Amino acid sequence: MTRPLLTPAVNATGVILHTGLGRAVLPLAARRAVMEITAGYCTLEIDTETGKRGSRHDIVRRMLCELTGAEAALVVNNNAAAVMLILNTLAVGRDVIVSRGQLVEIGGAFRMPDVMAQSGARLISVGATNHTTLDDYHRAITERTALLVAVHRSNFEVVGENVETPIEELAALGRETGIPVAHDLGSGALVDLTAYGIAPEPTVQASVAAGVGVTCFSGDKLLGGPQAGIVVGDAGLVAKMASNPLMRALRVDKMTLAALQATLALFLDDASIRNAHPVLRMLSEPVAALERVANRLAEQLSFIFHERMDISVEDDVSEIGGGSLPARTLPTKIVALTPRDGSNRDLADRFRRQTPPVFGRLSRDRFLMDVRTLCEDDIPAILHAAEQIAGTL
Ligand SMILES: *Cc1c(COP(=O)(O)O)cnc(C)c1O
Repeated sequence: MTRPLLTPAVNATGVILHTGLGRAVLPLAARRAVMEITAGYCTLEIDTETGKRGSRHDIVRRMLCELTGAEAALVVNNNAAAVMLILNTLAVGRDVIVSRGQLVEIGGAFRMPDVMAQSGARLISVGATNHTTLDDYHRAITERTALLVAVHRSNFEVVGENVETPIEELAALGRETGIPVAHDLGSGALVDLTAYGIAPEPTVQASVAAGVGVTCFSGDKLLGGPQAGIVVGDAGLVAKMASNPLMRALRVDKMTLAALQATLALFLDDASIRNAHPVLRMLSEPVAALERVANRLAEQLSFIFHERMDISVEDDVSEIGGGSLPARTLPTKIVALTPRDGSNRDLADRFRRQTPPVFGRLSRDRFLMDVRTLCEDDIPAILHAAEQIAGTL
């Protein structure tokens, strides 16, 4: 029998939104919803009130509007698709003005200038890499201009002299000139992350409140749900996007909608979200709690590996990952394993070849396991893997 290629894995890398390991861990409520909705038939495109054909776009629209303050909302396959749909609907064959400082590449092969070209819109870049003013946008506007676009530089930070036009000012320019403004927020925080002890990240609500025409963000970054691209904003603009023929190619399935509906519902209940939402829980886990987990894991691993490994608990930092908040790391506790014979690379290979595979970090001659990104049953899985490995050393 061949082993399936997609299997559960243990993420001990400390990267919370690890794209290679599937980005956000879904809330239990979202996992249950997928089970329930896919066990039989469901009301994907039927309105139970009238019995008539409905729209799958209605499913999460009301919740997204309530959470963000927007008039309308739309869900597509991922945020890359959302950006493509926005440009293709609102600016095909016309000009789109973007700051030179925001022509970013997000992960493999998603380069803003290339996406613009593929969408059929013409890119007009303005300003300088580290300085773009409102006047730069203003002067570039002609009768061919269809859209002003702001892109959140989610996966890198600029240090030193750096001026970008605030989204409120860009939105005001849009209103003044009658040109719609689109904001690609990337990670799309729905809660103020400072409440979790993390540096502020622009929220979707702030973008909507600024009067941006359409704002888009990922479902599986800070929102902590399934892979999806979410667009919120002006009803007229969103309706145009919904009737673009591309929409059929970009629409999401019932599993995504089930998971997204359940994830969004958690945000309506502020009090319980911290425990029910794995991404927010991992982001806000205090170091003292991580230290207790790390100490216990180190003790158990020492028992399994005896003299074959030096094992210690140390301070380190976790990353948010997924192109979110790049320069902001979180203090954490790691379990460091240093093999007395053999290399840390070999040890990492062995952990990765277990069932489930265990992924950690390499540092100098050590193999590190960051406990921040561990999920419920991961400790027994790591101990089982360690026992298998210890038996072959
Ligand atoms: C992550 C990101 C994207 C791509 O989103 P996906 O959901 O991975 O397709 C696009 N723009 C920005 C600014 C991003 O941060």
